[in-house]
Formats: sequence, C-alpha cells, structure tokens
Amino acid sequence: MPETLVEPLRELEAAYDEAKRDRGFRARLGRELATYVGRPTPLTFADRLSKELGLRVWLKREDLTHTGAHKINNTVGQVLLAVRMKKKRVIAETGAGQHGVATAAAAARFGLPCRVYMGTEDMARQAPNVGRMRFLGAEVVPVEAGSRTLKDATSEALRAWSADSRETFYVLGSALGPHPYPGMVRDFQSVIGREARAQILKEEGRLPREVVACVGGGSNSIGIFTAFIKDERVRLTGVEAGGRGLASGEHAARFAGGRPGVLHGTYTYLLQDKDGQVLPTHSVSAGLDYPAVGPEHAELRRSGRARYVFATDTEALRAAAELGRLEGILPALESSHALAYVLRERRKIGRSQTVIVNLSGRGDKDLATLCP
Ligand SMILES: *Cc1c(COP(=O)(O)O)cnc(C)c1O
Repeated sequence: MPETLVEPLRELEAAYDEAKRDRGFRARLGRELATYVGRPTPLTFADRLSKELGLRVWLKREDLTHTGAHKINNTVGQVLLAVRMKKKRVIAETGAGQHGVATAAAAARFGLPCRVYMGTEDMARQAPNVGRMRFLGAEVVPVEAGSRTLKDATSEALRAWSADSRETFYVLGSALGPHPYPGMVRDFQSVIGREARAQILKEEGRLPREVVACVGGGSNSIGIFTAFIKDERVRLTGVEAGGRGLASGEHAARFAGGRPGVLHGTYTYLLQDKDGQVLPTHSVSAGLDYPAVGPEHAELRRSGRARYVFATDTEALRAAAELGRLEGILPALESSHALAYVLRERRKIGRSQTVIVNLSGRGDKDLATLCP
C-alpha cells in the first residue's frame, strides 16, 4: 500500500479489534441484522430441482436480505464501525452497483454522507443501481480511468481515502484489499455460514456433503465457508466466472488462469500478463468481474481445504433459467455460477447427497441480460 495508507490501516485494525470485543457493538450489529437487514435468512429446500438432479439441494437465501444481496451484512458492520470511529463520511467502490447500493443504504440509516466511486462503463451497464444509490442520498463519482470498471473504481477510492483518511471511512466491498479488510469482511459475512450450519442441522440432523458458493472477491463464499472449515468431511467448493471459456482469455478464473501477484494491497491469485500487468476480465455477471481473489481463498486452496472451479457465462444463464422454472426464484447471475456447477457436476457430487448453495443475491438487476 502507499505509505500514506499505512497509518490509517493501523488505526482501522486497532478500532476493529476493539469493536469486535465490545459487547455493545456486537449487540447493536445483531439488532440491525435482525430488524433492518432481515436476518436470519431462510434455508429453502429446492424440492423440484432436487428431484431433477437426484440430490438434496438447499438454498441459503441471501437474495431475501434488504437491498437483495449479502453485501448489506458487511456494509452495516463497516458503517457502524465508521460511526464508532467518529468518521464524518464514508466512501466506497462499486462494480455492479450492489455494494454501492448497500453502502448508500447503511450510510443513510446511520446518518453519514456517502460517496461511491464507479467506472463509467459500469455506470452505463448498471444504470438502475446508479439510480438506487442516488435515491438513497449517495453521490456517485464517475471514474474514467483504465477499463472504467471495478478495478479502476477501487484504485480511485483508495486514492480518495489516502487524501482524507482522518475524516473518511473506506467501506471496502469484498474479502479483499489490504489487512484488516479481508478478515473484517469475512467476520461480518460469517453470519451466513453460522445460520446455514444451524439450519441444516435442524432440518436434516446432519451436516451437508458439500457447500457451494460463487467467488468474485470472495466475501459471500468465505462468509458461508467459515462455519464449516473445521468440519473436514464437508466439501467446500468455490465457483469462479469462466466467462467465454479459459481459452478465450475472456474470463475471471483467477485460480485456473492466474498466478500469485499483488493488487490493491493483497498478495493473492491474480490475472496478469508475463510482465505482471493486470489483465482485463470478462463475466456476464458484473459482480464476479475482478482480476484478483480474496487472499484467504488462496490459502484454502493451497491447503486443499477448499476447491475452486469455474462456470461459463452460458452455464450460468442456463442455471438461472432452471431455478426460475423449477423453484420460482430469480437468482443473481453471480449466484447462478454456483448453481451451474451443481447442475453440471450432479453425478460427481453423488446420488442423494445434501448440498447447500449460497444464493448470494436476487436477479432483478440482471433481467435485461436474462431476457434480452
Ligand atoms: C458482489 C456480488 C458477488 C460477488 O462478490 P463476493 O465478494 O465474491 O461475494 C456475488 N453475488 C452477488 C449477488 C453480488 O452482488
């Protein structure tokens, strides 16, 4: 990280360490999750899909949270921390706009002004979310640099933070970036796995064979994996965006197609050329379209505790349509990557096995892609 951010990161680390041990902070967060976010979210048995696949598929319904994706679990936590640190405003980066919307909502609720950096390419692709952010009182700052997408918006947000870190809190959107963000975002998202583990034990009386989640930066996946990491017999599978296939070069499969490097203060798997320049990415789902993956996933892969695979654009679109047809649920295209893996690998998963799929968000934002 640039020298100017080392001190602000230390300050954040100390403040978060204190907050997470503070009973009052945890109680406040718990109340917000219950009464504003809408937790616990249900674990839904996908009856018709299960029959069709010869599996027992359960869906963890993050699509039913306020603002329609898991991102709100993290932004409520971080904005409460900003209030506790007496910061005067929050800033955030956004790609698809889901994190921007979730940050704008939390900032409004806790009374802080909010500025969201967004690439102009993404602003055009995700216009409804630009409108939602503005409605919630946030200022959306267009970023013209580079490919005008998430990577560039993140660089710009980090620059803005280093210019005014005394008064500004940077709400980072995934389990990524410099320490302490990856661990802090994991902690705020781990409520997903804690709930899912208790719910499946109550419903089935035992743990699932496999837990599956899509991996963009890696926050919804680490959020559901964390509760199961010690349960060695539960398989953990992360699904990246295979875009138009590995051979096309148009994808965001960092594990299959990348190698270790540094981006935005994280040493992790990264899509880069032979000189270490960050490569452009592609995915039909804007939320998975990022060249680096959260560092804890790199470690889970190294240790063999989790596996990482990818699903293509076409597979994800087909999986979304299947969930609509069989269960009456319109999933986000990001989440559809996790479903696509289950559809494709149902035989390898094993007959009648129990699988939990993290349905990270709802797909209203993707309707134009799903039904062009
Ligand atoms: C942002 C987003 C993702 C990808 O981000 P992660 O940090 O990997 O979870 C996945 N699903 C939805 C619905 C999103 O909005």
